[in-house]
Amino acid sequence: MKEITCSFCGSKKEEVELMVSGLAAHICNNCIEQVSKIWEDENKPKQKPTPKISLKKPTEIKNHLDEYVIGQEKAKKVLSVAVYNHYKRISQKNTSDDVTIEKSNVILIGETGTGKTLLAKSLARILQVPFCIADATVITEAGYVGEDVETILTRLLQAADYNIEAAERGIIYIDEIDKISRKTDNPSITRDVSGEGVQQAMLKLLEGTVVNVPPQGGRKHPEQKMLAINTENILFICGGAFDGINRTIASRLNTQPIGFSGSINLDSFDEENLLQYINASDLRKFGLIPELVGRLPAIVHLDPLDSTALKRILLEPKNSLFKQFEKLMKLEGIELQFTDDAISFIVEKALEHKVGARGLRSICEAIMLDAMYNLSTNASDNKLVIDKSYAVEQFEDKFDNRKLKVA
Ligand code: ADP
Repeated sequence: MKEITCSFCGSKKEEVELMVSGLAAHICNNCIEQVSKIWEDENKPKQKPTPKISLKKPTEIKNHLDEYVIGQEKAKKVLSVAVYNHYKRISQKNTSDDVTIEKSNVILIGETGTGKTLLAKSLARILQVPFCIADATVITEAGYVGEDVETILTRLLQAADYNIEAAERGIIYIDEIDKISRKTDNPSITRDVSGEGVQQAMLKLLEGTVVNVPPQGGRKHPEQKMLAINTENILFICGGAFDGINRTIASRLNTQPIGFSGSINLDSFDEENLLQYINASDLRKFGLIPELVGRLPAIVHLDPLDSTALKRILLEPKNSLFKQFEKLMKLEGIELQFTDDAISFIVEKALEHKVGARGLRSICEAIMLDAMYNLSTNASDNKLVIDKSYAVEQFEDKFDNRKLKVA
């Protein structure tokens, strides 16, 4: 009788623990194991290769930002340099000299709707790195009801398609950082859940640490395997309106001796835009703990948007509101046009409600509602001109003031 041997490795039946026989072949347990391993490897979810960061020079970054963000020249300049240095620092990591470039997280300060989120989002888009937005007000100290700091990283991981390497050099925008300030300037003796504790929880994250992150987020899936993420190379951009900080800046400017001339007068400052003089001590006075301020070395202010800026925002950015409406109408074969006085009316209303550019969308949507609703019935008209009287009429009829309320 013919001796049974493994058709793959040639082992004899008595040399192995198991020999499985098929129609015309045999396979031993060792080969089964190997084949099964190959099969497993083949079927592993393939992680996409981490895309390389396309590091652009500061001027190039600024030029790209110009396509999306109107005005805010100083902010765009400072951000371009900060971001360039940040990614340069990452790419230089393995050099042997003693000079280590420290991380430079950014804090953006400006009224609501002036483009803070837009700046951070546009930067991430230009650099093609993962990006997520988190709200400081929902973060709590571990153990309290709300979100833990780790969930911010979960979101970044999701934005990076679970590619840890990509997430580790992403950008996180933390909004409403001013809302977690402590209420007094003195360090608290007891724990302050609403403010200081959360700031403390954020410190490590900003500085660089390894955090075990639940990939699905939350505490609902206690069985999930944690993933370790190092935050050292993640760029944190914090933003806030810091309502009322103008008073702090003004009083500092008024009392601060400059050079030999003693106290100086506010008259020599641009009172309309005191934010441009903001510094770290103002942030501390407002209630950010010194350690947190220390970890946000790039302090960037945003200018309030005036009517010229608002008008440009309606017309110029790559993805401007008007361009979006125009495209929507074009898809229906209709050419859309806004007259100059209709545009001025929209801008005037946005200024009146003091919500920066954010109000522009709700105002335009109110004005355009009927036109878009009647699209199919008006299919024969192939041109739609929105003039001031039509805009006023639609605005007064459709606009809901409550929509402009900022939380
Ligand atoms: P915030 O400063 O409150 O974070 P956002 O960045 O969210 O404001 O701005 C809200 C919207 O207003 C943006 O989506 C954008 O359409 C528009 N916007 C605000 N500022 C600008 C700007 N400087 N340039 C272009 N669009 C802007």
